[in-house]
Amino acid sequence: MLHKAEETLRKYYGYPSFREGQGNIINSILTGRDTLGIMPTGGGKSVCFQIPALLLPGLTLVISPLISLMKDQIDALNSLGIPAAFINSSLDRRQVEERIREALKGKYKLLYLAPERLETPQFRAALKSMNISLLAIDEAHCVSQWGHDFRPSYRAIGPFIKELVKRPIVAAFTATATEEVTQDIIHLLALDNPKVYVTGFNRENLSFGVIRNQDKKDFLLSYLSDNRDQAGIIYAATRKEVEQLHAFLCKKGYSTGKYHAGLRDEERSASQEAFLYDDIRIMVATNAFGMGIDKSNVRYVIHYNMPKNMEAYYQEAGRAGRDGDSGECILLFGPQDIQLQKFLIEQSISSPERKSNEYKKLQVMVDYCHTPKCLRKFILDYFGDVDVPEECGNCGTCNDKSELTDITVEAQKIFSCILRIKEQYGSSLVADVLKGSQNKKITQLGFNRLTTYGLMKDYTAKEIKDLINVLISDGFIRMTEGQYPVLKLQPRAIEVLKGEEKVWQKVQPRQQKAAANNALFELLRQLRKEISQIEKIPPYVIFPDSTLQEMCRYYPQDRAAMLSIKGMGEVKFERYGNRFLELIQRYAEEKGVPAHSVPASSPQPKELPSHVITLNMYREGKSFQDIARERNLKPVTLQDHIIRCGLEGHEVEWDDFIPEGFEELILAKIKELGAEKLKPIKEEMPDEVDYMAIKAVLSKYRLQAWPF
Ligand code: ADP
Ligand code: ZN
Repeated sequence: MLHKAEETLRKYYGYPSFREGQGNIINSILTGRDTLGIMPTGGGKSVCFQIPALLLPGLTLVISPLISLMKDQIDALNSLGIPAAFINSSLDRRQVEERIREALKGKYKLLYLAPERLETPQFRAALKSMNISLLAIDEAHCVSQWGHDFRPSYRAIGPFIKELVKRPIVAAFTATATEEVTQDIIHLLALDNPKVYVTGFNRENLSFGVIRNQDKKDFLLSYLSDNRDQAGIIYAATRKEVEQLHAFLCKKGYSTGKYHAGLRDEERSASQEAFLYDDIRIMVATNAFGMGIDKSNVRYVIHYNMPKNMEAYYQEAGRAGRDGDSGECILLFGPQDIQLQKFLIEQSISSPERKSNEYKKLQVMVDYCHTPKCLRKFILDYFGDVDVPEECGNCGTCNDKSELTDITVEAQKIFSCILRIKEQYGSSLVADVLKGSQNKKITQLGFNRLTTYGLMKDYTAKEIKDLINVLISDGFIRMTEGQYPVLKLQPRAIEVLKGEEKVWQKVQPRQQKAAANNALFELLRQLRKEISQIEKIPPYVIFPDSTLQEMCRYYPQDRAAMLSIKGMGEVKFERYGNRFLELIQRYAEEKGVPAHSVPASSPQPKELPSHVITLNMYREGKSFQDIARERNLKPVTLQDHIIRCGLEGHEVEWDDFIPEGFEELILAKIKELGAEKLKPIKEEMPDEVDYMAIKAVLSKYRLQAWPF
C-alpha cells in the first residue's frame, strides 16, 4: 500500500520520498484507522491526507479553518492535476449549489470546507448523500479551548461524524502537542481508537535567535539591508505597532505590506496577495496573518515583540523555510513585551483557570528569551521531543561569537541615578538626568543639582535607554507594571554598586550577508513570475524556490533530467516543464555549461568565443578597464564584443551604456543624420555621450547591422 502511496508522491508531487512520519500516517489512514498526526508547521501535513484522498474511492472532505488559505490550496492541487474545490462564504448561493452538484457527481477527489458549514442543517444533509471516504481535519487544535486558536465551530465536527450513516475514516492534524490539546482532539472530534503519530518537532533548516540587548529598530534596519532580496514576515503584537513599524519601514525605502484585523477586507487581501506573488518582500503583521499561508519561500520570520506563548511562537516562526531551504527565526525581546502580554491576558480572558494557564505559558516564553542553553533544545524539550542533543550548532546560543564588554561603570552610574531619584521614575527621565538634559521637568524637580546629573553626557539619551534595557533584561533592574512603569533596583544591582559584581554586555559581530543568488535563479524566478501573472496563481504554487534552486544546481536539459528535479511532478512538467527547459538550455548554451553538470563558480571554458567571454566578465560586474587589463584588449574592442553579443541574441542591458536622459536625443540625431557614420553623431553630442552610448542606442533599436 505504501508503495502505491510513494508512487503517487513521485508522480503528482515530484518528491522522491516521504518525510519523517508521513509514510506511517498515510499507511494508518489507508488501513482504515482513525489517525491523529502531530507534526510541526511546515512538516508536510497536507500530503498526509491528500495522498489517501487520491488512493481511496469517493470523496475526502477537508475541514480547514481559514477561508483565505483554501483558494491557495485548491490552486495548488489543481496545478498538480488533482480535482478539488472549496466551499466557503466567498461563494454565492448558486456557486455553492453548483459545487455540491459536482461533488455529488463525483467530480472532485477533495472538497475543502470551513467548519461553520457544518452548523447549517441543510448543508449537513447535502453532505450526507455524498460518498465520503475520509474526513480530514486540519488545524485540529482549534477544537480545544486549551489550544491557542479556539474555534467554537470545530465543536460541530464530532456530532456531524456521528450523524453520518457510513462513518468515514477520520484523520486529524495539528502542530500542537500538549497533553490537554491531544486529549481534547481525540474526545471532542470523537476519534475512534486512533493511531497517534507524533513526529519530532525539529525543523532542521531553521535557525533560532533571540536579540535582547539591542535597539529593535536598529537591528531591523541592519538585518533588512543585509537581506534585501529575501521574503520575510515581521510579527508585531498590536495593530498600532504594526501601523507604526510599517510606516517606519516605508519611510526607510522598503516596500512593505501590512496586515492586521483592523484593516478592511480588501486591504488585507490585496496586501496578502502582493506578498504571495512576490510583489513585496516584507510583510509586517499581527498574528492575524499567516494561518495557512503556504508561501514556501519565506526566508525569515522576525518577532518584533515576544509572543504570548511557545505554541504561537513556533507556529509563526515555522512559516519560514517551508521549502526546506534555510530560514531564520529571530525574536526581538524587550522588557515591555512582558507587560504587554500580561495586559492582553487580563483583557481577553476571564476564567481564572485559563488565566493562570496563560500566565504559565507566558513565563516559558520569557524564559526562552533569557535561557543560556541551546534555543532549539529549549523549544524541543518544551514540545516533548526526547533525546534532544544539548547543542544544535544552528542557534543564537550555539553560534554565539559575541564578545563581552565590561559595562560595570556605566551600570553603576545608572543604578546610582535610580537611587538618587528614589526609584520613582521611568527610563526616559533617568536617561535625561544622566545625559544632563536641560528639559523643564528636570529643572522643576531640581534633578539638575543631583550628583548624577550629566554623568553620562557623552552618550545619547537613546544609548542610555538601550543600556537600561540591557540591565532590565539581565535582571539588575525591575520595571514596575502599569501605565507609567518606574525603575526599581534588584538586589544584584546593589552588589554591583558595592563593587561586588561586574556587569558584562554581549556585543554581536555583524552577521554575514546571505549568499547572493546566481543569475540563472533570477531568470527562473522571472519566468515563474510571468507564468504566475498569466495564470493568477502565486509563484510558489508553480514551483517552490527549492525546485528552482535545484535547476540551477543541475542544469536539467531534457525531460528525464527535469523530472528528476525535486518538486517536478508529471503534471507540472506537462504544464511548465518545457518553458523552464528552454530557458535553461539557452542559458547553458550561452555560458557553455554542459548538461547535468554542477556549475563551476565561474563557468568560462576555453572554447567560448572571445566576445562572449567579455560579456560574461562584464556580467560578473567587472568594468571595461578591468577586463581590458585582464585580457590585454583595447576598451573599444570590448565595446564591440558587447554589441556583437547583443546582436547575436545574448541578453544585454543596453541602458547600462546610455547616460540617463540622452536616449531621445541620440535617437533624434540618428534620425536626422542617418546611421552610416558614427562620428558626425558623436560630434553633435555633449561629452557624456561616448561612442558606446551611440552604439548601444543603435543596437537597442536594431537600427544598424553589425559591424558599424
Ligand atoms: P504543514 O501543513 O505541515 O505546515 P505543508 O503540507 O504545507 O506543511 O508542507 C510544507 C512544504 O513541504 C510544502 O511546500 C510541501 O510541498 C513540502 N513537502 C511535503 N512533503 C514533502 C516531501 N515528502 N518531500 C519534499 N517536500 C515535501
Ligand atoms: Zn543550538
